Amino acid sequence: MDASHDLAIVGGGPVGAALALALADRGLDVALFEARADPAASTDDRTLAISYGARLILERIGIWDALPAPTPIETIHVSQQGGFGRSLLGAAECGVPALGYVLRYAGLQRALGEALAGSRGIAVFAGASVEHLSPAADRVGFQVRRGAELQDASARLLVVADGGVQLAAQVGAIVRSRDYAQEAIVGNVQTSLPHGLRAYERFCAGGPVALLPFEDRHALIWTATPEQAAGLGALPDAQFLAALQRHFGDRAGRFLSVSRRARFPLSLRYALDPVLGRTVLLGNSAQALHPIAGQGFNLGLRDAWDLSEILLRESGADPGGNALLERYRNLRSRDRNAGIAFTDSLVRIFASDRESLRWMRGGGLALLDVLPAARRMFVRRMIFGAA
Ligand SMILES: Cc1cc2nc3c(=O)[nH]c(=O)nc-3n(C[C@H](O)[C@H](O)[C@H](O)COP(=O)(O)OP(=O)(O)OC[C@H]3O[C@@H](n4cnc5c(N)ncnc54)[C@H](O)[C@@H]3O)c2cc1C
Repeated sequence: MDASHDLAIVGGGPVGAALALALADRGLDVALFEARADPAASTDDRTLAISYGARLILERIGIWDALPAPTPIETIHVSQQGGFGRSLLGAAECGVPALGYVLRYAGLQRALGEALAGSRGIAVFAGASVEHLSPAADRVGFQVRRGAELQDASARLLVVADGGVQLAAQVGAIVRSRDYAQEAIVGNVQTSLPHGLRAYERFCAGGPVALLPFEDRHALIWTATPEQAAGLGALPDAQFLAALQRHFGDRAGRFLSVSRRARFPLSLRYALDPVLGRTVLLGNSAQALHPIAGQGFNLGLRDAWDLSEILLRESGADPGGNALLERYRNLRSRDRNAGIAFTDSLVRIFASDRESLRWMRGGGLALLDVLPAARRMFVRRMIFGAA
């Protein structure tokens, strides 16, 4: 292993891998370290709703056509339980072919991993876990563990895309977090009605429920308190489907069957500043959001794309230099802060069962429904971000 690089990326998850691909074959010395033995393989059960803007980036890095049939979302129906007001957002009136697409996290990971394996110019180290960061003025040192073997390495710019907080803490990141006391139960459900490429987002007191069109069924993300989620997770299928029917109503038809279910604890966690010396925190390492608005990966992908653009535009400069990273920080701060604040406000405003807020929410949804210009603005913001 060549131990010294211009740019090292820690984590070959969707965001780290996308950054590497955006930089592939462009003359930069880039190394990617992934702890999993096979960067193309994932056992993660979640489905992701990605925006039309994310599709454009995935096209540019050349993996869109390799994704196993993403399902387009043509309309989104938003409503609240126990209150008036609903809104219908549509792709056609916003001038885009789809508001977004639903795909398997594991399918995305496969396409990215295979593209990385076939790319030239990116050194991919699989089964390689990065530990012990030691930032210095001109490089960031780190250690790479492969089995029992531990090796020293360094990079002029280190991008931490490990999805977590441990490495961020080693470079002095100040992290803010909020525990929503919610868990997501995810799985796929068959309904008696075809989905018609419509997604549903229903805000309920215990947390939102999203039903996304996915192949010939729906992907379900049901958020609930941890106690409720534990109970729901343990129910036999028939009882789970009956509980879902009571909770969600019949707007998508009758719930007929459910796949294996997985649970994820939900919180907000973000670094106050994602740029720390010669280290950039990217993806979930920089900000992990509630999946309510399906923004986490989309935001991380926009961060990765903008970072790659700056690195390529200034390819003669020190990639970890102050000036370059300052430009990245400035370029991304508006979109990033808006994405974090938007998602957090949605969770908190819609989780409250205060009567006054219920009316405000209903009024907001009804207004959105009758004002096409506001709807278009809202949708464009969700698709392309605030930058
Ligand atoms: C239930 C749920 C539903 C979601 N739905 C959506 C959605 O609809 N739309 C959306 O945009 N977002 C959604 N998200 C968020 C989305 O999943 C994340 O934003 C996205 O996975 C972040 O990708 P990442 O590459 O930053 O991190 P991760 O996916 O966590 O990948 C990190 C990678 O780093 C590797 N790694 C970790 N530590 C090390 C180390 N020390 N050395 C080397 N490698 C390491 C890991 O093996 C992994 O491959 C959802 C999240 C959840 C929980």
